[in-house]
Formats: sequence, C-alpha cells, structure tokens
Amino acid sequence: MVERLREISKRPIKLMEVCGTHTMAIGKSGIRTVLPAEIEFVSGPGCPVCVTADSDIDAFMELAGERRVTLVTYGDMMRVPGSAGSLAELKAEGADIRVAYSSLEALAFARGEPQKEIVFLGVGFETTAPATAHAVKSAVAEGLPNFSVYNLHKTVPLAIRALLAGDGVQIDGLILPGHVSVIIGETPYAFIAAEFGVSGAIAGFEPPEIMAAIVRLAGDINAGKPRISNIYTKAVEPEGNLVAQGMLDEVFAPGDAEWRGLGVIPGSGLEFREGFASFDAAKRFSIERREVRLDRGCSCGEILKGMIKPSDCPLFGSRCTPERPVGPCMVSSEGTCAAYYLYNDMANVDQPTQM
Ligand code: SF4
Repeated sequence: MVERLREISKRPIKLMEVCGTHTMAIGKSGIRTVLPAEIEFVSGPGCPVCVTADSDIDAFMELAGERRVTLVTYGDMMRVPGSAGSLAELKAEGADIRVAYSSLEALAFARGEPQKEIVFLGVGFETTAPATAHAVKSAVAEGLPNFSVYNLHKTVPLAIRALLAGDGVQIDGLILPGHVSVIIGETPYAFIAAEFGVSGAIAGFEPPEIMAAIVRLAGDINAGKPRISNIYTKAVEPEGNLVAQGMLDEVFAPGDAEWRGLGVIPGSGLEFREGFASFDAAKRFSIERREVRLDRGCSCGEILKGMIKPSDCPLFGSRCTPERPVGPCMVSSEGTCAAYYLYNDMANVDQPTQM
C-alpha cells in the first residue's frame, strides 16, 4: 500500500482524521512515518472530551460542587481543567464523583441509591448518545425519579461542515469516523464532496484499514474526483443503524452546541425532547452556562481545526504533559496532543515500508 501511495502521490495533500480513535491508531501504528512526504496529516474535532467547551466544564463542576449531586462520568473527563480546577480535584475535596463505562452503570447507581440525585455526564457523539437515550428510556420505564443527564452530546456532520466552511482551513481529504458512521451511515457526509469538493473515506481502526482509506483518498484527490467512500463496509451500512437512529430521534431533537475551537454550531447538539425534559440536569438543578474564556496559553482550539500540530504549541512537552495537562487534547485518551506525546518516539524510528 505504501508503494501504491508513492505511485499516486503527485502533489502535496493535507488529510484530516476527524476521529480521536483514528488519531491514536495512526500514532500507535506509526503510519505517519511510512507515508510519502507529499501527504500531511492533521487532526480534527472528533475527540468528544477535547471539544467540550470551558463553559460546560464549569457548569458540570458546579453540579458536582455547589449542587452536591452524585456526578457519574467517563474517566477521560476527570482531569480536564476548567476555570475552577478539575473533577479529580473536586473529588479529592470530597465531592461524590464516580467513573463509569456506560450510562447504564449510572442508572444502576440511581436504582441502588434512591436517596441520591444521580447525574450522568452525557458526553460523546452519535456513538454514545443512543446509549444515553436508552438509559433515559429505562429510567422512564422504571419510574426512577433520581436520575438525570447533563447533556453534552454532539453530532459530527455539522461540525465537519463548520470546519470546511471556516476561514484558514485547507483540507483535501477526510478520514471519516468509523464508530459514528456505524450509527449514521454514509448519507450524512454527501455534502462534503458535493458542496466542498473534498474527498472522504469512512475507515475502520486497524492500520491496514486506515492505510486503505489513505490510498483511496490520495487516488481520488490526485484524480480530481472528490467522493465519499466507505472502506469500513464490514461495520457500516449505507443507511446506518436505524434502531439507534430511532432511539436518538425519540429522546432528542437537534439543538445548538458549543464546540471548543469552532464556537456555537446551530443544530449540532442533541437537546431533550419535551417529553423527556425532566431528565435534563441543567434544568432540574438550574445550571446556567456562563461565558468562560480561559487564558492559559493552550492551543487546543486550533489543533481541533487542524490548523496547527501539537508541536507548534509552546507548552507541548514542557508545561503540558499527560501527567500535568494544561488542555483537554493532552488529557483525553483520544486527544491529539496525548497521541503525539505518547508516540512521538515512534515517529523517529524507521518503520518497515510494507504494510
Ligand atoms: S500541548 Fe497542551 S497546552 Fe498545548 S494545545 Fe496541547 S493540550 Fe493545549
């Protein structure tokens, strides 16, 4: 595949991996090290922890701190700093903050501890949002009054649109997220090629699958024929997962959402529909989002738009490391800065050229 890439690479092209899981897989496998010099890689807004806005971090900190609820979250959120520190620091001070692997675990806490208000921190894209919707429907069926969700779920296609329409962003091709695509299918990406003339390839997460997507993108770009390809046909149906889509549509409606680096993107969030509004923790506990702009010298916003690479940030590897992260891109297991930091050594090692 590398030889094929060398044959078809005729001019410099810039590819973006939208999804944080791809970012990690590319770093871990050393794919960057075997690519022809004409192909440059940047990362996109597909790490849900990284795109969470400072305003939202402060809001859920308030829930766990001042409102004294039991906050249940995925582990990556624990060390993301807001203006008043992180959830990990709040927990060390005595707040009841628990790490879970699924929304159903949060539901089990609500079931087992009826005297406590259990709030699940709903973070993630179309991949995890159906599970949150399922948990909410289960809470309805069981009549659990002490379960709610601080809802930060977002949807990917409108973020890609905002990114491509933004100033100063020049991308030739996109590796499209595999997990999200399992749910939404191929159709929601059609605008990428049709309106922006940019190629896209839905890819799995094994190195050969990612390489196949790169070869497809390079071929399409060099041929001047933008299109959306599905290289992950073993998992992604053209129409996606209709059951999960139905679940999402029953519980949520499109709403505005703020993305770090991209600002507020109309319709890119998932709001509770009226019939499920009582599960909205922001309403239940009267949490108001306040404008927050932290000035800590972190460039995660630019990294999430593919405008710079982690090594362009003056804090990278010095003041900002996985042990002492300044921004979410260094905290998250899907973060670009963490991927570059963890696998930087690998990038300097000669890799075999046959894959
Ligand atoms: S290296 Fe740290 S401070 Fe710099 S952009 Fe990445 S997370 Fe932010």
